[in-house]
Amino acid sequence: MKLTLQTQLFPDKIHAAPLKATVERFNEAAEWLAGEAFAIKVSNKTELQKTHYALLRERFGLSAQMAVRCIAQVCEAYKRDKTKRPHFRKHAAMPFDPRMMSFKEADRVSLLTLEGRVVVPFVMGKYQAERFTNAKGQADLVLRKDGKWYLLVTVDVAVGAPIPTTDFLGIDLGIANIATDSDGNEHSGRPVERTRRKHNLQRKRLGKRNTRGAKKKLKRVAGKEARFRKHQNHVISKTLVEVAKGTGRGLAVEDLSGIRDRLPAWGKDARNRLSTWSFGQLVAFLSYKATLAGVPLVQVDPRNTSRTCHECGHCCRENRTSQAKFLCVSCGHRANADQNAARNIRAQATRKMALELAGVNSQPESPAL
Ligand SMILES: [Zn+2]
Repeated sequence: MKLTLQTQLFPDKIHAAPLKATVERFNEAAEWLAGEAFAIKVSNKTELQKTHYALLRERFGLSAQMAVRCIAQVCEAYKRDKTKRPHFRKHAAMPFDPRMMSFKEADRVSLLTLEGRVVVPFVMGKYQAERFTNAKGQADLVLRKDGKWYLLVTVDVAVGAPIPTTDFLGIDLGIANIATDSDGNEHSGRPVERTRRKHNLQRKRLGKRNTRGAKKKLKRVAGKEARFRKHQNHVISKTLVEVAKGTGRGLAVEDLSGIRDRLPAWGKDARNRLSTWSFGQLVAFLSYKATLAGVPLVQVDPRNTSRTCHECGHCCRENRTSQAKFLCVSCGHRANADQNAARNIRAQATRKMALELAGVNSQPESPAL
């Protein structure tokens, strides 16, 4: 399984200048070449190389390998959508292959620039270092708007052998808590809630002021918020995968398509919280971490998971008295609404797996649980 590791580079001023000049020249060349390729309708690397390799080197002073990468980059972009001429921003990511970059020990990388090689220190976390030995092939050099440099390295990671399992940890994604599992644990915590509220307030305040400064700040807040969400989603998904693996269970989540329509919004604040949380990202993280750990992940039909009683199976809208509370109108079972849903999700996954093991093809499921 391929993973991308992000490592921050710390070039000093002397090294940052040629790096920046190289990225800019490379993209200038790519931008020009994209126009050429589009004009002659060629998206094949070998063919474009025949006609444009020498020109590229001459006009832009690219090294041999940079020219090869530039041609590949342009062809790849053009192939994605042949109706459009691809464009390359001044600081678009620049690809480096092993002939243009080499790692020196565990904390420095040598990168080819237009002025020769520069050796740049970088910092890796423990998680990255453990996987870094598998680094090979290509990396992307990225210069962010804030002036920070990153190297995105693709690594091949061994995938854990899937654990055969018939039991699951059900996970309900929701409003009050980002994730509630069928063991009754809530994954959200107060710091998340506090930060979310702070961001929402900030956004509201800035939205009222229609100045350029406010708009700029708003953008910065949005970036900060996205990074915070991403980090939290990493933390939550990691915990859930660890719990499932540690107890020999699989993971069960709802099939997310249409989650926004399904969940009723209990007041304005709740709606805000829901729309700003990225459940799609959380499920994507869960999915790749589960694959790495060999934990099976099953997606179940989301219909009725929140309004069906886990005790007696009675399903009706009135069972859900509020966002947080579940009270079965048939048997009187009282529960935390998210936990009740998580248990239904678990039950559905277990049934799905049992049918699969019995060799019954998964039929379109009936809405009733
Ligand atoms: Zn009931």
